[in-house]
Amino acid sequence: MTDLPKTPSFDLSGKKVLVTGASSGIGLGCAVAVAEAGAQTYCAARGLDRLEGAVSAMTGAGYDVKALPLDQGDVTSLAKTMEEHAFDVVINSAGLARHSAAVDTTPDDYDAVMHVNLRSAYFLSAMAAKAMLAAGKPGSIIHISSQMGHTGGIDRALYCASKHGLEGMIKGMAMEWGKQRIRINSICPTFIRTPLTESTFENPERFEWILSKIKLDRVGEVEDIMGAVQYLASDASAMVTGTSLLIDGGWTAG
Ligand code: NAD
Repeated sequence: MTDLPKTPSFDLSGKKVLVTGASSGIGLGCAVAVAEAGAQTYCAARGLDRLEGAVSAMTGAGYDVKALPLDQGDVTSLAKTMEEHAFDVVINSAGLARHSAAVDTTPDDYDAVMHVNLRSAYFLSAMAAKAMLAAGKPGSIIHISSQMGHTGGIDRALYCASKHGLEGMIKGMAMEWGKQRIRINSICPTFIRTPLTESTFENPERFEWILSKIKLDRVGEVEDIMGAVQYLASDASAMVTGTSLLIDGGWTAG
């Protein structure tokens, strides 16, 4: 008889997962996705007040979830959090957008966006991997990047710079940590309906531009991201590192 291959498991039971930016939007979707797959889920945000609604709703739904205040800009506190918890999976959904023509970008816009989208992502990854290496266990680090990490967009030179930087960072880090089976990847969504995109969607001209580019002829919803999160967090993606999963409705296809 033929030996049948076994589908790898998407189960995250017994795994400790950190999700940043978990109080809203895609981050909340990531937290629910991993919690639903059985993970002990730590929802991080800058303050406990931000997390209250999300964590109480998740607890009410029966998930194993905890709130974790975390200042991602503080590298010392990042290192301490990672050492204390030794997470198996770290998902980074914290992000910021300040859209304008490149000639109108202020140094303050530049610093604010780069600080969250790249600097914080860099040290979050490095500190997470350091703790995984010290614990001698494999892990998965997932960044919510963007299709704008693969292409350009109107009024988005700064945002694109931060997300293209993130994509390069992921490749470099994947090369360093692969032998220890610490994987790092990104999910690159198109426009998803969240608090971040509210103002863009309210602009009819921009909305038309968006729909003209998405081949599937609709904007994305948070639910469109959740399956990819379970995949990249679990053993189902054991051979995947240093790359990105585009969930762009065909935007970058042409
Ligand atoms: P959102 O505004 O709901 O989520 C962003 C999260 O980041 C919030 O929870 C916010 O509190 C947190 N955050 C912002 N600044 C922070 C800081 N300085 N320190 C810690 N946390 C901070 O928006 P979203 O759409 O869910 O965005 C999540 C991620 O997805 C971002 O990285 C964004 O760039 C990316 N993304 C979003 C879309 C989209 O269309 N919504 C598309 C592609 C990529």
